[in-house]
Amino acid sequence: MKLTVLGSGTSVPHPDRASSAHWLQTSNGSLLLDISADAAHRMAQERLDWPNLDAIWVSHFHLDHFGGLPTFLFGTKWAPQTQSRTKPLRIFGPEGLKRITRTISDSNNYSLLEQPFPIEIVEVAPSTEFEILPRVIAQTFKTPHTDESMAVRLNTHAPKSFVYTSDTGFSENLASFANQVDLLLMECSFRRNKPVEKHLELADAMKLAKMCGAHRVVLTHLYPEWDGIDLEAEARELWSGETIAAFDGLQLEF
Ligand SMILES: [Zn+2]
Ligand SMILES: [Zn+2]
Repeated sequence: MKLTVLGSGTSVPHPDRASSAHWLQTSNGSLLLDISADAAHRMAQERLDWPNLDAIWVSHFHLDHFGGLPTFLFGTKWAPQTQSRTKPLRIFGPEGLKRITRTISDSNNYSLLEQPFPIEIVEVAPSTEFEILPRVIAQTFKTPHTDESMAVRLNTHAPKSFVYTSDTGFSENLASFANQVDLLLMECSFRRNKPVEKHLELADAMKLAKMCGAHRVVLTHLYPEWDGIDLEAEARELWSGETIAAFDGLQLEF
C-alpha cells in the first residue's frame, strides 16, 4: 500500500497545509480518505489518477473532511477525463451521507449523482465490516468527536493493516481497534493543553500509539500551532516507536 498525504491541515486556512484528504493506493484499487474542499486539486497536483478513483471514505460531515465531495462530483460530471469512465465510484460514510449529498445536489439542480458512470453511496454503521475495495475488508469504530464520526481499519489479504482515526477525542477502545496496526494515520490536532475534548493532543496520541502497539504512526490534522515545532522530536520523548509528522505531499509505502 502507498499513502499520499494530500491535506495534513484542518479547517483553518494555511499556506502549506490543505484540509483533510489522504490517498491510499492498494493493489486492489485506490481509496480517498476524507475529501476536503482542497482534495480535488491536490489529487491533480500530486498527479494521482483521480478520474479512476475507486472509492471515497467520509469519516464525518465536518466540512474540512467532507466539503469537497460536491465539488469533486461536479468535476467528474463534466471533466473530459471522466466522460468515458464506466466503473462505479463508491462513496462510503456515516448514516446521513445520502441525505446530505442529495440535499446539496438538489439545492441548485446540480444533479451530482447523475454522472457518466455509476455512483454508489453506501452508509455504514459503527462496529461493522464491509468491502471497501475488492477483497479489502474495512471495519468501523465510533470515535468521540461528532455524533456520526468514525475511524476505519483496513485489513488486506497481504499482511498489512491500516487505521485512519480522522478526528477523535481520546478513547481506550480506539487503541483496541488499532491493535498492532502496521500504519496508524492519526489526528494530532494540538500540541498540549487542548481546548476541546473531541480532539487529540500529542500526549494523547502517543499514549494511543503505545497502547495499541502500532508499528508506525503518521500524525496529521495539524493546527497552525504546530508551525515551527519539531513534532517528531517531541513525539520521541513520549514514545520510542516511529512517528512521522504529515506534510502535504508526503508519500509512504508500507
Ligand atoms: Zn477536522
Ligand atoms: Zn471534525
